[in-house]
Amino acid sequence: MENGWSAAEAARYLSQYAPQWGEDLALRTYTSRLLGGAKELVLHGGGNTSVKGVWVNALGEPVPALFVKASGWNLASILPEGHSALNVTFLQRLQQLPELSDEAMVRVLRANLLEPEAATPSIESLLHAFLPHTFIDHSHPDAILTLSNQAGGERLLAEALGDEVIILPYIHPGFALAKEVAKAFAKAPHSRGMVLMQHGLLTWGESAQASYEATVQWVTRAEAFIAQRCPPPPALDSVVESEAWARYGALAPLLRGALAMPTAEADHPWQRFILRPLITPEILALLGQAEAKTLLLSPPLTTDHLIRIKPLPLWLAEEAHNPEGIRAAVAAYRQAYQAYWAREREAAGVVGLEPRDSSPRLLMLPGVGVVCVGRNSAEADMTWDLAVQLLAVKGMIARMGGQYVGVSPADQFAMESYGPQRAKLGNQAPPPLGHSVALVTGAAGAIGSGICRTLLEQGCHVALADLPGEPLHSLEAELRGLYGAGRLLAVGMDVTDPQSVAEGWERVVRTWGGLDMLILNAGLAHVSSLEEMRSEAFIRLQRVNVEGTLHLLSAAARHFRQQGTGGDVVLISTKNVFAPGANFGAYSATKAAAHQLARIASLEMAALDVRVNMVAPDGVFSEGQRPSGLWAEVGPDRMRARGLDAAGLESYYQNRNLLKARITATHVARAVLFFVTRQTPSTGVTLPVDGGLPDATPR
Ligand code: ZN
Repeated sequence: MENGWSAAEAARYLSQYAPQWGEDLALRTYTSRLLGGAKELVLHGGGNTSVKGVWVNALGEPVPALFVKASGWNLASILPEGHSALNVTFLQRLQQLPELSDEAMVRVLRANLLEPEAATPSIESLLHAFLPHTFIDHSHPDAILTLSNQAGGERLLAEALGDEVIILPYIHPGFALAKEVAKAFAKAPHSRGMVLMQHGLLTWGESAQASYEATVQWVTRAEAFIAQRCPPPPALDSVVESEAWARYGALAPLLRGALAMPTAEADHPWQRFILRPLITPEILALLGQAEAKTLLLSPPLTTDHLIRIKPLPLWLAEEAHNPEGIRAAVAAYRQAYQAYWAREREAAGVVGLEPRDSSPRLLMLPGVGVVCVGRNSAEADMTWDLAVQLLAVKGMIARMGGQYVGVSPADQFAMESYGPQRAKLGNQAPPPLGHSVALVTGAAGAIGSGICRTLLEQGCHVALADLPGEPLHSLEAELRGLYGAGRLLAVGMDVTDPQSVAEGWERVVRTWGGLDMLILNAGLAHVSSLEEMRSEAFIRLQRVNVEGTLHLLSAAARHFRQQGTGGDVVLISTKNVFAPGANFGAYSATKAAAHQLARIASLEMAALDVRVNMVAPDGVFSEGQRPSGLWAEVGPDRMRARGLDAAGLESYYQNRNLLKARITATHVARAVLFFVTRQTPSTGVTLPVDGGLPDATPR
């Protein structure tokens, strides 16, 4: 690995942080970030660092302190305050205790914080306290794990790193590990690092640079050792990859449907997941090896990944790539997981602690790829990163001719059930649509963009579907700035073309595993009397407003049937369906046809628990900077007919309703939200959003 230390960067950290935090903590922040920034060393909150120094108490007296990484901080982005200060003198005295449970350890750590509001220090804090060195760096490097997680690993590590590095068998992180680490160091005081089997690397030094560079040195040695013994991967076939993607597209809704967990709520019967596939020629080759199942159906590289990816992946052999096979395999996985939990819980003497859920987080499908699962896209992305590392390391072990060795079920349970680890999954209820995926057509228009925004605010994953081009592009950029990129997907789609609809739908399925909501908002308007109507104009509207609706409803029905976890469809209809306007025949008639299609969909899809409802707004002129396309078409004619300017026309519409309300895209979006969050058991229903127009009230 590369040595990332730069004297200039170090000086920058010193000038930024040393005045407030002191030089040691400034440089501790710098090298912690160096570790955190190297994916081959730590992932997603893994690893921890410390420095020993002095804390000044309220009387102005110096107190010896340990500044150690706190839970919830990532090394890659840590700040000086990300290291909580602890009374190190007291912590060191804990070594005299014969044992200390995880819960008691967390209490004693919190009780010895020198700043009461500080975040809970790392589970590995005592190890940092018991070792005498000023700076300590702890990481989980790929190269070290490649050697520590295989049969005969101690011998390989000794050969690779020499006798300056202590090798310690796996011990559950916490008090017992801290004591063993201190004992081992006391026996070999001239050592310059320590490998914890199936766990990671510890280095130390009297300066931040020395400790960091020791990590670089041992990792580089391990990498060189592996490179000599690991033949290059076999030649790869990229045709296989495109076939695998096609297979994944067909299987994803089945997988997502089978993974969804039934809940006890009638209106919200499923807790869904987001799926992110990992499909590369390398991974397909690995999954296709004769020994792949033995190699990959094994525990994670380090126990701190357990909370994210569970002790084992779900292996789905090719003969199970069908609805029954998938459902049976998921059910068997859940049963086996529950059995593991009950067995280990009893063995550990723990009472009553239930697992968070029993669904797999990694699915391995030979011929298809690896599917990474999370309760939302952020979690699925994290699973994906861990899977990339796990497959790389296990693949390397296989190429070295080694045999993978993970930790025991008892050690898995000890870590998976540990409170601070469980807390990493968060205790807050997810946002209402946090597990859901929606596709909104006509997304770049005034109403469409308002709907997308409202759904994103509720945590939903949203595919913005519209004709490819600048309006879609700029909407994507705008919403990315507000909500990040993870829950957004711009899909260029022409709703009049079934092929384009199918391709767009497939992109959403490949990105998140499936869809739960369809908002049919794409529409065109045209102004003409029947007397003067050109049939091309009528047909143009018919293609978008009627055929477009039909193509998407057909795709939705097929998809929801496959996925088997219900769904919601909302059609943005119009008040014109109930109260048509003169010179607006093409629009009113085609929207009425779309409205009728949606009502029929509500009949046909009810058995699938798909609810289909309609929102009927009166004119929406704009949303922020986005003018309504419909009004660009209709406005000039209406202004001419009534002798009004744009503002006058808007107030004309406002004044014609009972509430004198100006109708906005946000109002329409709230009506959509009412339906998709399933506030009432309604389907086939029309909700007017028009300020009260008696002649347009559905009847
Ligand atoms: Zn660790």
